[in-house]
Amino acid sequence: MSSSARQILHDVFGYADFRGAQQSIVEHVAAGGDALVLMPTGGGKSLCYQIPALLRSGIGLVVSPLIALMQDQVDALKQLGVRAAFLNSSLDAEAARAITGQLHRGELDMLYVAPERLLMPNFLALLEQVQDGPGLALFAIDEAHCVSQWGHDFRPEYRALTVLHERFPDVPRIALTATADAPTRAEIVERLALEDARQFVSSFDRPNIRYRVTQKANARSQLEAFLEAEHPDDAGIVYCLSRKRVEETAEWLKARGWDALPYHAGLDTATRNANQRRFLREEGVIMVATVAFGMGIDKPNVRFVAHLDLPKSMEGYYQETGRAGRDGLPADAWMAYGLGDVVSMRQMLDSGEAPEERKRVERQKLDALLGFCESTACRHQTILRYFGEEHPGDCGQCDNCLEPVDTWDATQAAQMALSCVYRTGQRFGVVHLIDVLLGKTTPKIEQFRHQALSTYGIGQSLNQAQWSSVFRQLVAAGLLESDMQAYGGLKLTETARPVLKGEREVWLRRDAEPARRKTSKAERASRAKEAFAGAQDDPLWQALKARRLELAKEQGVPPYVIFHDSTLLEILNRRPGSLAEMGQISGVGQAKLARYGDAFLQALEEAEG
Ligand code: ADP
Ligand code: ZN
Repeated sequence: MSSSARQILHDVFGYADFRGAQQSIVEHVAAGGDALVLMPTGGGKSLCYQIPALLRSGIGLVVSPLIALMQDQVDALKQLGVRAAFLNSSLDAEAARAITGQLHRGELDMLYVAPERLLMPNFLALLEQVQDGPGLALFAIDEAHCVSQWGHDFRPEYRALTVLHERFPDVPRIALTATADAPTRAEIVERLALEDARQFVSSFDRPNIRYRVTQKANARSQLEAFLEAEHPDDAGIVYCLSRKRVEETAEWLKARGWDALPYHAGLDTATRNANQRRFLREEGVIMVATVAFGMGIDKPNVRFVAHLDLPKSMEGYYQETGRAGRDGLPADAWMAYGLGDVVSMRQMLDSGEAPEERKRVERQKLDALLGFCESTACRHQTILRYFGEEHPGDCGQCDNCLEPVDTWDATQAAQMALSCVYRTGQRFGVVHLIDVLLGKTTPKIEQFRHQALSTYGIGQSLNQAQWSSVFRQLVAAGLLESDMQAYGGLKLTETARPVLKGEREVWLRRDAEPARRKTSKAERASRAKEAFAGAQDDPLWQALKARRLELAKEQGVPPYVIFHDSTLLEILNRRPGSLAEMGQISGVGQAKLARYGDAFLQALEEAEG
């Protein structure tokens, strides 16, 4: 049986070997077992249900919330010669009827279906007929974390999916998600009645992603410098917190000549779909988006994810950055972060509608994320540790590994800052507090007679930027908090007391000074460029890409559905001279070889000749 699984892997998908747990999962499900699969984005979850669906007799049903992406998923399977279709509200009655006909006649290997459609009584009745006829190979429940009511992907219909188990107890179920945290996992098991399913938990490390956190000075220009230096032609996602920021940032980038599009839940469906479509089908589009964008986006060559605002939690950060580099090639996760973010995120949490208990949890989650931002340890290690996994050692790739950050004994500075907050009455913002510490003369200082304070001018051993770094870290560490009653002025928390009394030391990271900072090692070593070393300027590479785009346009599918970048790179490097050699390339299965083999051999010949 496993040899035929391998054969499908090779003949249909064009891959030489299974990755990680894929083989065990495929064997378990193909033999009729239930499974819960936790695997990071890009880990290769799709094969885990696609191959068993092809191995078992009957039709494999894939439940997915991603209506706008089903077409692409199905097109990708058709390209591989798999008989696939989808059923959701975007189809008219006639098209839907045609597909039910195919179902009845057993003419499909796989059907993608939206949960609300699946749960309709007449569809369930149809499935019973299919079971008695061509048969049901399996149920795959993709994006299984949608059962969790605390995630922003919550879909109430997912909870009703237990009906599958009740009405079709003999059909194996496989639930899949890239969400790593333990509470969500437990919720999936409970809500989908998967107590008896075997769990397959992969490492959540994403070794090809380089994480980097920079101190925010002027976020937009920093973003542009990052794009110019490292991703001038690449597709990527820029996350912002609010719809307004999304629109402003997209406009700004567009005005500066970047191919940028906005995406947020406030845009009408047609615009959202059109923008998503362009992002998927064209090369080098930058999507500026809120977190409403991203789930299920299986564009493999997203080369960077940038955060202009803080995500809400480590889970959020990990999911959002995880959309980069699904193809395993180097990708960047870049974030600009500053005091303003900490203050506004805390305020947003405090002023939200959630019950107090929930807010407490969210505050803890934010604190964990701030700890990550301020950490001087390896980013990969810090992320994995958060999800309860050990990382073997420093990654040698992230900002903190490439340019180790100094820490300094900031106890005295912290005491000055905290007592300045106290002496000014715990109601001023950081700009004014720094003015007082530096002994400046401003109208506000005169108005409140702050020259008379004992903390006036005592902080001249540090400059403006250094003080701002101190305040940011004190807020991030929870020694100071912003006071909603005082329009966001800073006040002390209980944890500040031992510092003021000299009972606790404070060590802070020494931020690079923006003014003196030259291009850093991390920035120079652009990994996207490393990955495509030589390729970008190679006319052959351009020719292969042009041919791919041509074929994609002819068929109305995204270019990566024809061949992934990694396949194209292998064609470039190995220069196959015959169809047989072309068939050896990873990602070239039999159907694609027959369809495109000649076209790419010809492209090679023309460009070389
Ligand atoms: P996920 O759904 O877990 O994010 P995908 O199923 O989209 O991941 O797979 C990620 C990428 O890895 C895809 O480009 C896929 O074609 C590729 N891939 C998956 N399994 C293998 C394999 N065994 N060998 C080579 N490439 C693979
Ligand atoms: Zn590291």
